[in-house]
Amino acid sequence: MLDDQRLDLLELLPAQAEIELARHFAARGQPAYRVAQARAWLYQRDALHFRELTDLPAGERAALADRFTLTAPELARVARSSDGTVKHLWRMADGELLESVLIPARARMTLCMSSQAGCALACVFCATGWSGYRRQLTAAEIVAQFRGARRWARAHEGGEITNVVFMGMGEPLANRKAVMPALTLLNQGYGLGARRITVSTVGIVPGIRELAARPEQFRLAVSLHAPNHELRRRLVPVEKKHPLPELLEALRAFEAAGGRRITFEYVMIDGVNDSPELARELAALVAEFQAHVNLIPFNPIPGAPWQPTPPARLRAFAEVLQARGVAATVRSPRGRDIAAACGQLRAEHETRPPKPFVELMRAERPEVAALSGSV
Ligand code: SAH
Repeated sequence: MLDDQRLDLLELLPAQAEIELARHFAARGQPAYRVAQARAWLYQRDALHFRELTDLPAGERAALADRFTLTAPELARVARSSDGTVKHLWRMADGELLESVLIPARARMTLCMSSQAGCALACVFCATGWSGYRRQLTAAEIVAQFRGARRWARAHEGGEITNVVFMGMGEPLANRKAVMPALTLLNQGYGLGARRITVSTVGIVPGIRELAARPEQFRLAVSLHAPNHELRRRLVPVEKKHPLPELLEALRAFEAAGGRRITFEYVMIDGVNDSPELARELAALVAEFQAHVNLIPFNPIPGAPWQPTPPARLRAFAEVLQARGVAATVRSPRGRDIAAACGQLRAEHETRPPKPFVELMRAERPEVAALSGSV
């Protein structure tokens, strides 16, 4: 409805939503406790429609629907992996699709969420990067993945989401207008502790500084992937805009702001960024931080000329880091059978790398371009 004048309650911060609800019920001569009732439906039971608010009189449910809306994307598809990972495909009101992934692991259940439809940052090894940028998501659309996945988990697995990571599609710090309020919503509204929410960034410096300035202890993960400018700019084009020295300076500010440990993510690509020399360089680079390095075996994407680092070399890389006092772990790939693993999320399925990537690799890595054959 283009002329819909109704206010989306899920787009508002909890305090604002409460004010709107209080006004609404007061104007209708309703008791004050209606606000608490509605609030519980919004933030604890993840209502998708006002007709679900069954402890309110029917007239009040109708009146809410006349005045407010709730962003509630349609669940277009569910895929369950043999390892317990569950991928949800959500269809937004305008038809745009996005994905979130539920990852159960012992006492934890982590939701990996998307922050943008597509991504403009074009990391060469990332499927979302290959698909390109579609549009920004609203805060309500971001949070809708959490609400939808939580409802699904409660209904199907009986579990609760304990952690959220912004490691799905998109670059969260390139959509601060929506991600910053989404963080507040998840924390203050939906009751998820700030330390259980991780923002993963490719290294958008102003965004890291904005996050550092927030009082909450949100966690930060930085997609490093290379310990020097020359290699990193080939893998992660944003390195040209925010080169390593600038990134490290922002990370120092982040650590200084709250003593929060930073995670460095490092995708391990066979023969590209996985040599022992690079491990030593990486150890030296992150030594000044209370860092933790998460090594992620490259998840092959169709049409990409790379392979994951073999396990023995992966272990050797991790050992170089550990021997230098750097905490390092290898992330085990989850949901591979349903294309839900890191970097594989994309609603549309393209099979060939777009031209800019081919040109990039041809210009800078002739041996890799040769491997890719037809492209
Ligand atoms: N834009 C954010 C979130 C991206 S996805 C960021 O860059 O951090 C989360 C992680 O998955 C990032 O570290 C990303 O580099 C990594 N990733 C992307 N493609 C991958 C692939 N094909 N294999 C393994 N990890 C990948």
